[in-house]
Amino acid sequence: MATEPERNHLRSTSAPAAAVAWPDGKTSAACLSFDVDAESAILSIDTRAANRMGPMSHQAYGPLVGVPRILEILERHRIRSTFFVPGYTADRYPDTVRAIRDGGHEIAHHGYLHEDTTNLSRDAEASMLDRGLEAILSATGITPVGYRAPMWEINYHTPALLTERGFQYDSSLMDSDHPYLLAVEGAVGGTTLVEIPVSWALDDWEQYAYLPGLIGSGLIESPSKALEMWMLELEALHQIGGVFSLTCHPFLSGRPSRASALEQLVRRMEEIPGLWIASLEEIAAHVRNLDLEPRRVTKPELPGENPGPESD
Ligand SMILES: [Zn+2]
Repeated sequence: MATEPERNHLRSTSAPAAAVAWPDGKTSAACLSFDVDAESAILSIDTRAANRMGPMSHQAYGPLVGVPRILEILERHRIRSTFFVPGYTADRYPDTVRAIRDGGHEIAHHGYLHEDTTNLSRDAEASMLDRGLEAILSATGITPVGYRAPMWEINYHTPALLTERGFQYDSSLMDSDHPYLLAVEGAVGGTTLVEIPVSWALDDWEQYAYLPGLIGSGLIESPSKALEMWMLELEALHQIGGVFSLTCHPFLSGRPSRASALEQLVRRMEEIPGLWIASLEEIAAHVRNLDLEPRRVTKPELPGENPGPESD
């Protein structure tokens, strides 16, 4: 018969993240972030896809055409954004990645070959992180402070690997409308990371990714529908003082009508009084200065398991 203490130890140990104060009396924050996956998003699923000239060209559209178009939009509106760059993209398209840097934007880490890190060992994930860091450093001279797990598949051991490498923030988790300080246990380096949450509803992949025979399914939605969804979420997050963190992929949102919808979203953002538009690095630096109580995000314990030290 289950006893009260047994039920209790299955409960989460952390409270929800609270709303944070924003700088200069702002009400909420927003960042347009771009994951420059290019070919790596497909090669990580099946390296044989490298032989498929058509789908590879679809992915190459991102760094070749999408990124320059997006950079022009950001420049027109004087917005600083965050670009998550897999190391493979930095190796294959160094000029594109340098153009992002030269536009004044943040370059952040997004794996090497966009690896699916589900069940990846700690050592293998450490090697992937180091290889990605080396590629970005070699292309741009930059050591990133931000990380986003490919496919948002972060492991419970990942935060410690990140703080050991000097990362300041992660943007892969989905348990909050507000940024928070994530407690990092078992790390040699820092003991916290700023977490800037994401959600699948704020990702262009779910609206536009159509890659027959490669990703199992695909949709091509109207940019009007995507714009409407994102604006509704932007306005609702603004009401509660949250952070609007949109994830777009240049091979998807860099297409003309989609980029045009993105620019309409930017215009809407500019019209909202009290909305702080910033890069994730700037948002993370602000949150770190708030001296928040760190939150623990714990692995669910399965019924019947003995409570004990957390494991990977
Ligand atoms: Zn990605």
